[in-house]
Amino acid sequence: MEDQKTVTCPLCFTKVRWRSVVCLGCQATIEYGVPASRYWLAFGVCAYFGGFLGQYFSGIFLIIPFLIAFAAFAYLCYWLGEIYADRVYFQRYQ
Ligand SMILES: [Zn+2]
Repeated sequence: MEDQKTVTCPLCFTKVRWRSVVCLGCQATIEYGVPASRYWLAFGVCAYFGGFLGQYFSGIFLIIPFLIAFAAFAYLCYWLGEIYADRVYFQRYQ
Protein backbone atom coordinates (compact mmCIF):
# COMPACT_ATOMS: atom_id res chain seq x y z
CA MET A 1 0.00 0.00 0.00
CA GLU A 2 1.24 3.46 -0.85
CA ASP A 3 0.18 4.81 2.56
CA GLN A 4 2.28 2.29 4.47
CA LYS A 5 5.47 3.12 2.62
CA THR A 6 8.20 4.48 4.87
CA VAL A 7 11.54 6.10 4.31
CA THR A 8 14.47 6.16 6.74
CA CYS A 9 15.89 9.55 7.68
CA PRO A 10 19.61 9.57 6.80
CA LEU A 11 20.30 12.09 9.58
CA CYS A 12 18.77 10.35 12.60
CA PHE A 13 17.66 6.97 11.17
CA THR A 14 14.03 7.42 12.21
CA LYS A 15 11.51 5.70 9.96
CA VAL A 16 9.18 8.30 8.53
CA ARG A 17 5.93 7.75 6.66
CA TRP A 18 6.21 8.40 2.93
CA ARG A 19 4.91 11.88 2.11
CA SER A 20 5.55 13.24 5.60
CA VAL A 21 7.00 16.73 5.32
CA VAL A 22 8.98 16.73 8.57
CA CYS A 23 11.08 14.03 10.24
CA LEU A 24 9.66 13.19 13.65
CA GLY A 25 13.10 12.31 14.97
CA CYS A 26 15.14 15.39 14.11
CA GLN A 27 12.68 17.90 12.58
CA ALA A 28 14.46 17.80 9.24
CA THR A 29 12.27 18.93 6.37
CA ILE A 30 11.62 16.33 3.71
CA GLU A 31 11.30 17.09 0.02
CA TYR A 32 10.11 14.68 -2.63
CA GLY A 33 10.61 14.51 -6.33
CA VAL A 34 12.47 17.01 -8.46
CA PRO A 35 14.33 19.75 -6.61
CA ALA A 36 13.16 23.21 -7.72
CA SER A 37 16.74 24.15 -8.63
CA ARG A 38 16.72 21.49 -11.37
CA TYR A 39 13.66 23.10 -12.96
CA TRP A 40 15.41 26.46 -12.90
CA LEU A 41 18.47 24.89 -14.45
CA ALA A 42 16.34 23.30 -17.19
CA PHE A 43 14.56 26.61 -17.71
CA GLY A 44 17.86 28.48 -17.95
CA VAL A 45 19.30 26.04 -20.45
CA CYS A 46 16.17 26.22 -22.62
CA ALA A 47 15.98 30.01 -22.42
CA TYR A 48 19.62 30.23 -23.46
CA PHE A 49 19.06 27.73 -26.25
CA GLY A 50 15.95 29.62 -27.42
CA GLY A 51 17.89 32.88 -27.38
CA PHE A 52 20.69 31.29 -29.36
CA LEU A 53 18.27 30.01 -32.01
CA GLY A 54 16.52 33.39 -31.96
CA GLN A 55 19.50 34.96 -33.72
CA TYR A 56 18.55 33.11 -36.89
CA PHE A 57 14.92 34.19 -36.96
CA SER A 58 13.16 37.51 -37.09
CA GLY A 59 9.67 38.97 -36.89
CA ILE A 60 6.86 36.46 -36.67
CA PHE A 61 9.34 33.59 -37.17
CA LEU A 62 10.68 34.19 -33.66
CA ILE A 63 7.82 31.95 -32.60
CA ILE A 64 9.84 29.01 -33.96
CA PRO A 65 12.79 29.19 -31.50
CA PHE A 66 10.30 30.02 -28.76
CA LEU A 67 8.29 26.87 -29.50
CA ILE A 68 11.44 24.77 -29.76
CA ALA A 69 12.69 26.08 -26.40
CA PHE A 70 9.28 25.51 -24.83
CA ALA A 71 9.08 21.95 -26.18
CA ALA A 72 12.62 21.27 -24.93
CA PHE A 73 11.65 22.61 -21.49
CA ALA A 74 8.50 20.45 -21.38
CA TYR A 75 10.58 17.44 -22.35
CA LEU A 76 13.24 18.20 -19.73
CA CYS A 77 10.56 18.55 -17.04
CA TYR A 78 9.13 15.19 -17.99
CA TRP A 79 12.61 13.69 -18.01
CA LEU A 80 13.46 15.19 -14.60
CA GLY A 81 10.21 13.77 -13.23
CA GLU A 82 11.27 10.31 -14.37
CA ILE A 83 14.76 10.62 -12.90
CA TYR A 84 13.64 12.00 -9.57
CA ALA A 85 10.40 9.99 -9.22
CA ASP A 86 11.58 8.16 -6.09
CA ARG A 87 13.97 10.76 -4.75
CA VAL A 88 13.60 11.96 -1.17
CA TYR A 89 15.66 14.76 0.35
CA PHE A 90 16.11 15.36 4.06
CA GLN A 91 17.33 18.76 5.04
CA ARG A 92 18.06 19.96 8.54
CA TYR A 93 18.48 23.64 9.18
CA GLN A 94 20.55 25.28 11.98
ZN1 LIG B 1 15.53 12.67 11.08
